[in-house]
Amino acid sequence: MNELVRMISEDGTLYVLAVNSTEMVQEMQNIHQTSKVCSAALGRLITAAGMMGVLLKGDKDTLTIKMNGSGPASPVVAVANSKGQVKGYIGDRNVQLPLNAKGKLDVSGAIGKDGFLTVIKDLGLKEPYCAQIPVVSGEVAEDITAYYFTSEQTPTVCALGVLVDPETENVLLAGGFLIQLLPTADEQTISLVEKGLENIKPVTTMLAEGLTPEQICEKVLPEFNMQFLDRQEISYKCDCSVERVTKALIGAGEDGLREMAEDENTEVVCHFCNTKYNFSREKILKLLKEATK
Ligand SMILES: [Zn+2]
Repeated sequence: MNELVRMISEDGTLYVLAVNSTEMVQEMQNIHQTSKVCSAALGRLITAAGMMGVLLKGDKDTLTIKMNGSGPASPVVAVANSKGQVKGYIGDRNVQLPLNAKGKLDVSGAIGKDGFLTVIKDLGLKEPYCAQIPVVSGEVAEDITAYYFTSEQTPTVCALGVLVDPETENVLLAGGFLIQLLPTADEQTISLVEKGLENIKPVTTMLAEGLTPEQICEKVLPEFNMQFLDRQEISYKCDCSVERVTKALIGAGEDGLREMAEDENTEVVCHFCNTKYNFSREKILKLLKEATK
């Protein structure tokens, strides 16, 4: 099970989310058959999106994070909702790169540094909320941290990790945490958080040691008495359907439909789950007829 916990420090200065997203990232890998570095890139982004999604308040609220860098795997896209359902896709799932200077999968090289991170929140209002910042490192966690600081003015620390088996390419471990400073936080809170972060091990190392998300929060913030709030399951789930795909086809407009009607069959593949939807010429002509009414 992918477990996400919410915690708050006893003094009310910190709000923390932590997650073990191993199964969700493996499910993503099964669907997209991503290469190792792409599993790490998309795995980190959907883990971040899962945490950011549960921060949304409304039942129907959704959040999209897009990293469009200059690297060969871009764009990397993740969509999440407040119920902990997450989906994503990557521009080129086959990218292979040598390990970086630290001996780690080169996520920054795959996504690329020149480009933008865009966050779109659909909160059921007339216009969605949209914010864009330049990619900071392309390693994802730093970019999410920068997004919160720049666009939401919420000092945040994000850490993410995905461990892939070098032989089988299976996802062994994945997870992350998000620490947010509440308005009650002061200089001392910040320095204690920084002190805690100085000596922490990577998230996947802590998961490998058998720590639960709750224990990771406690380990990362030893100076704070962390109180458990609640837990939620998060999972990889696509919500595509014939109705949605049909709507998208209608969205292509008359010219688009006319072009499709030249073919015997139009196949539409969902970016997020690879489900194939087939529309016969007859069906397309019917949509065209409705569109031109
Ligand atoms: Zn789908």
